Amino acid sequence: MPATRCVVLEAFGAPVVLREVEADGAGPEPGEIVAAVEYGGVCGTDVHLQAGRLPIPLPLVLGHEGVGRASALGPGVDRDALGATLAAGDRIAWASNIACGVCPYCRDEQEPTLCERRRIYGINRPLGQPPHLTGSWAERIRLEAGTTVVRLAEDQPPAAVIALGCAGPTAVHGLLHIAPVRPGESVVVQGAGPVGLAAAMYAQLAGARPVIVIGAPAARLRLAEELAVGDEQLDIDELDVDERLARVRELTRERGGDLVVECTGAPAAVSEALDLARPGGRVLVLGQYTDHGPTPLNPHLITRKQLTLLGSWAFSAGHFVEYLRTLPQLRARFPLERLVTRFPLERAQAAIDAARAGEVGKAVLAP
Ligand SMILES: [Zn+2]
Ligand SMILES: [Zn+2]
Repeated sequence: MPATRCVVLEAFGAPVVLREVEADGAGPEPGEIVAAVEYGGVCGTDVHLQAGRLPIPLPLVLGHEGVGRASALGPGVDRDALGATLAAGDRIAWASNIACGVCPYCRDEQEPTLCERRRIYGINRPLGQPPHLTGSWAERIRLEAGTTVVRLAEDQPPAAVIALGCAGPTAVHGLLHIAPVRPGESVVVQGAGPVGLAAAMYAQLAGARPVIVIGAPAARLRLAEELAVGDEQLDIDELDVDERLARVRELTRERGGDLVVECTGAPAAVSEALDLARPGGRVLVLGQYTDHGPTPLNPHLITRKQLTLLGSWAFSAGHFVEYLRTLPQLRARFPLERLVTRFPLERAQAAIDAARAGEVGKAVLAP
């Protein structure tokens, strides 16, 4: 295999660097696929990885969201996860994680998201260990045996797939499985980043109304409004906590949201969610992927309002497949491609910075 240009995180808190990686010369092993990356998504998690907020091995080729073309298939690889034929040249997307299949959560609880030994591209597969090319912020990625791969229809723009790279399957897990949305429910989404927008889209697809998106900055909310993501967008830079609560009550016949979905990653938002939910309502915590510490909240509200509190962690390969299966319906309603801003590999640090600042809907590296 020729040398491959990869974006590598070498030290926490330092800018990422572009490196040429000499990968093993041999072609793909049994069960493996080598793919030429078309897009590697920049996820909020990448911002946290660079800051050192998760214990991960370094140096690491970043990128756990990816779309590309299969360039070489190892022996035994001829079908995708849905049973469709797979050949070199096909456009594919792959799930970021591989559950072990044998730990108690995988085997007995059927909860692969809680797997104790998940392998995750671009997060816990360091550059120093085979198969080396394990991140999508690179010209090539080597997909290990056991990876969930789905062939994409040629009429499906790859930018639409990557627009909700992690956010789509995360929202599938939360809003279709952990806290299923019912038609006609009012849904309040806290956060206007990719996870918040994906949660709002799935709520709308499920028939919720109104869907109220609360977030910042203004540019992101404008984009949400343009794409008709959410029926109402409330700007936290313009409305304080009391004003937001008053507005949500006004929009929900003075009750509060049937379902409040926290997608911000800010601990204080969970406390606000208890206020925003109606009596008897549900609160789904989806956004606290990294640990930002404890927050004061009033547990009396949980009892007096008889709230149901739910948590949803990441997503499984199955949720990823479900995201791709529901993508045509999402695309029919929302022009997902418009969320995407492309950066070349050389500008990976600028892409991370743009994602951190919320300047773009979705930053994507295009090798
Ligand atoms: Zn497991
Ligand atoms: Zn992610």
